[in-house]
Amino acid sequence: MLLTKASNPSIRLLLKRTFHNKNGKLLQRERRGENPITRTGRILLNDLKTGYKIITNPGKITKRFPSETDIVVIGGGAIGSSIAYWLKEKSNVDSFDVVVVEKDTSYSKSSTCLSVGGLRQQFSLSENIQMSLFGHEFIRTLKTRFGPHADVAFTPHGYLVLASEHGADQLLENAQLQKDLGAINVVLEKHQIKERFPWMNVDDVALGCLGLEKEGWFDPWSLLKLLQTGSEKKGAQYINGEVVGFEFRDVDMNIEGVQKYNTADQPSAVVVKMPDGELKTIRFSLCVIAAGAESGKVAEKLRIGTGQGILSVPLPVERRKRYVFVFDCEKNAPGLNTPMTIDYSGAYFRRDGLGGKFICGLSPDAENEPDTKDLEVNYEFFDQHVWPLLARRVDAFNAVKVKGAWGGFYEYNSFDENGIIGPHPAFTNVYIATGFSGHGIQQSPAIGRAVSELILDGNFQSIDLTRLGFDRMLLMKPLLEAGII
Ligand SMILES: Cc1cc2nc3c(=O)[nH]c(=O)nc-3n(C[C@H](O)[C@H](O)[C@H](O)COP(=O)(O)OP(=O)(O)OC[C@H]3O[C@@H](n4cnc5c(N)ncnc54)[C@H](O)[C@@H]3O)c2cc1C
Repeated sequence: MLLTKASNPSIRLLLKRTFHNKNGKLLQRERRGENPITRTGRILLNDLKTGYKIITNPGKITKRFPSETDIVVIGGGAIGSSIAYWLKEKSNVDSFDVVVVEKDTSYSKSSTCLSVGGLRQQFSLSENIQMSLFGHEFIRTLKTRFGPHADVAFTPHGYLVLASEHGADQLLENAQLQKDLGAINVVLEKHQIKERFPWMNVDDVALGCLGLEKEGWFDPWSLLKLLQTGSEKKGAQYINGEVVGFEFRDVDMNIEGVQKYNTADQPSAVVVKMPDGELKTIRFSLCVIAAGAESGKVAEKLRIGTGQGILSVPLPVERRKRYVFVFDCEKNAPGLNTPMTIDYSGAYFRRDGLGGKFICGLSPDAENEPDTKDLEVNYEFFDQHVWPLLARRVDAFNAVKVKGAWGGFYEYNSFDENGIIGPHPAFTNVYIATGFSGHGIQQSPAIGRAVSELILDGNFQSIDLTRLGFDRMLLMKPLLEAGII
């Protein structure tokens, strides 16, 4: 059955939803101008009622395990932490509770920590360009938000995206859109690329687009820590545990202008497996799935992808292993002005530090996708697939020594390799923010802000990300990004 916005009541319902916190107050509206004494009394009373009282230890504030909360965020990577940060940043700190459930506080397998931290404006979709522009702005102004010591080791440096004859028109179109939206770039013809980068072979290249500002790379771990501690300072609570299930309840909803609606089996609590194996529940008003590469599996626990009707459509986000190789080039290595180069074959390289060290990678063809049971690196992938492409582009790369490598999981959206952000149409209180397939760390500030706007304001305020909603999976309309690496 073809679902359209007009015919599908659940989609229509999205446009009308409002959220209340656990005390029945509207989340979208702040209590402006509240008397400070009334406010303090209200908060204390709330703490007493919920058993969610703050216990103060010398030098440290801890909180009891929250048996209920207003908003639960599943996954405390860059995206979940950004959501928690922005929910608190945009609102009165105490107006509602946010709990982030993270199963691995070492983040050893999270995409965030295994990412290469690249930030570029060179995308084909306006949403991706705008989110990355905001990523740059957020990093540029870190100190005003997080204090004078806030630093993510940002290295400003342009990307050089190469196009063959086949991709030249697309590159021109992308470059223009990027400029229109505020990026600063220049399109170079073959001879101009050669003039700037004489060490690069450009015989088979038609055009290149070089970012002149607002691009570079940074340390993802530092960004994660700023978002996490920033959100905790504003009152968000992190819980170390794994969400292994949900509890449901039947809800009758009254929607303005629409008949009384029975939305069966709305999720009302997460079941959390604690590090010692104990199972605990956290009741919530609203939950956000931001579990990175595990998001599809978490969604299955809500019957997304296994249920009937709308619920038969899965959240198509899964693990895809990507390798990053580190190599030394001792002779005639490209110098300090080496851009983050994205070859039209998909291979990329950039310098790593100042002295002849580089990192590189390539997303494999569908038939060469590595298994995802662990993060083991297959070094043959470098020899067979990556190295030939690098050596074709740069003569000096014919003689390199691989010094190391790591694998990480893209939180890969197998439907169209783009982020999925917004409410789930079958539930009134489930939001999704995942699937950014290799460009999510730079966009995490914008994603967190967007989710907070949806929840607190009822719609996107800063960047219209409607096209990235779950609806496109129901309507079978992929939103394709030409600049996926
Ligand atoms: C090799 C590599 C290179 C990359 N390079 C770039 C780049 O240059 N630029 C860029 O912008 N992006 C890049 N990315 C992508 C970027 O890292 C991701 O898009 C981003 O980090 C996703 O953040 P996240 O918070 O959604 O996921 P994660 O960081 O994976 O966080 C999700 C968290 O959810 C937790 N979790 C999962 N299931 C549960 C559960 N059931 N209960 C509780 N917790 C759970 C996990 O432990 C994890 O910590 C790269 C990724 C990889 C792997």
